Amino acid sequence: MGKPIVAIVGRPNVGKSTLFNKISGKRIAIVEDRPGVTRDRIYIETEWLSHQFHLIDTGGIEPKSKEIIPAQMKRQAELAIETADVIIFLLDGREGLTANDREIASMLRKSGKPLLLVLNKVDNRESSPFYYDFFELGLGEPVEISSAMGLNIGNLLDEMVALFPKVEEQDYDEDVVKVAVIGKPNVGKSSLINKILGEDRVIVSEIAGTTRDAIDTPFTHGDDRYVLIDTAGIRRKSKVYDNIERYSVIRSVTAVERADVCLLVIDAMEGVTEQDKKIAGYSHEAGKALVIVINKWDLVEKDTKTMNTFIKDVRNELSYCYYAPILFISALTGQRTNKIIETVKAVANQNAMRLKTGVLNEIIGEAVLLNQPPSDKGKKLKIYYCTQGGVKPPTFILFINDKKLAHFSYIRYLTNKIRENFGFEGSPIRFILKEKA
Ligand code: GDP
Ligand code: GDP
Repeated sequence: MGKPIVAIVGRPNVGKSTLFNKISGKRIAIVEDRPGVTRDRIYIETEWLSHQFHLIDTGGIEPKSKEIIPAQMKRQAELAIETADVIIFLLDGREGLTANDREIASMLRKSGKPLLLVLNKVDNRESSPFYYDFFELGLGEPVEISSAMGLNIGNLLDEMVALFPKVEEQDYDEDVVKVAVIGKPNVGKSSLINKILGEDRVIVSEIAGTTRDAIDTPFTHGDDRYVLIDTAGIRRKSKVYDNIERYSVIRSVTAVERADVCLLVIDAMEGVTEQDKKIAGYSHEAGKALVIVINKWDLVEKDTKTMNTFIKDVRNELSYCYYAPILFISALTGQRTNKIIETVKAVANQNAMRLKTGVLNEIIGEAVLLNQPPSDKGKKLKIYYCTQGGVKPPTFILFINDKKLAHFSYIRYLTNKIRENFGFEGSPIRFILKEKA
């Protein structure tokens, strides 16, 4: 199961963004922060007391407007209902209850989603003068906070964590490769999934009350077992949100998290868009193996250079995913779609590969001889030892004398040497630096 999703909803100006920023201030540091990874400010991954979760500011999805547009509010509430495991319904404790609050409340109540009623802008220790009015909403007892002053936020997060679903881990055997097909709307994800599964239509089982109903589809290919992880957005097409492109990104996140291999589908007619970069970034940051699939290749007018030019573009635009193989396919005609599963298998194997420490240190030793480590003010980077600390993604622990001397460019050089010798195609490679006296 992916981490729970929490959405903040409420009418404009109640302080959603302020609260979002307050909570994201506590966010966990990202281990590897490469330049070029685009981040979406409306969505963060964070944690409270070791409970990790995703937080969405639904208000951030559409342009800020001080005007209250009921349709927009309604959309945000629907969005939260559809996606979130827990909803933080934010209200203004200084203004009291408004008609718009009531309207949102009635939608939320009907959904039956776990919810926290939160009064914001309660800036001093006294309760909101309207405190008891809010009970009228029938959504339980309000929690009072001040996002601006940071009051009672811890209490709010405690209550939120208590509402997280108790997840039953969907367990698959170690050898089952979990594949997530990701990408923005209309690039051909559903068509591709159907092609892979060899069906004209995928039968959807609607499970009432599920939210991120990741409908997993197990299948076999030869002797190999796979599971296709689907997100709500792919198979069960949402009528309401297909057109909110930014939002579809969030959906991809939970699928990515559960996957071993991500298939990023890009529309050949559009080339790499900002949206694609964000989605690729999620796969990269999550440390998943990645295959880039350029779909609708049948629509492209081609000459001998077209494919190479396209590859160059993709490498340029998605430079941080340089390790991902690129496939040119047509889900419509079936062109090269038979390559997909074998590529998935190859990168899954590479992602799970474990190197012997002796062999690894030989390669690192050679690399160091070929290209001396950097030094600064007379002090030279010393590399003592390297060992593979983990797989999925391949993670190497490098024991050195001084972290400050370990420039990004030198680590990249070592990464490239490891790739030259061992491949790891499709996998991001991570280094953890440890200082030793
Ligand atoms: P949103 O439209 O719901 O995202 O609201 P914003 O986060 O943009 O906040 C709207 C206004 O309320 C801003 O001027 C904030 O500074 C202010 N605000 C937010 N939280 C608090 C709070 O806890 N106390 C007070 N006094 N003002 C707040
Ligand atoms: P999704 O939103 O990413 O799941 O995309 P769909 O699978 O629903 O496809 C969106 C549209 O693109 C549909 O009209 C498909 O028929 C069309 N489509 C998908 N793959 C291809 C392809 O390889 N070539 C062409 N020409 N059209 C495609």
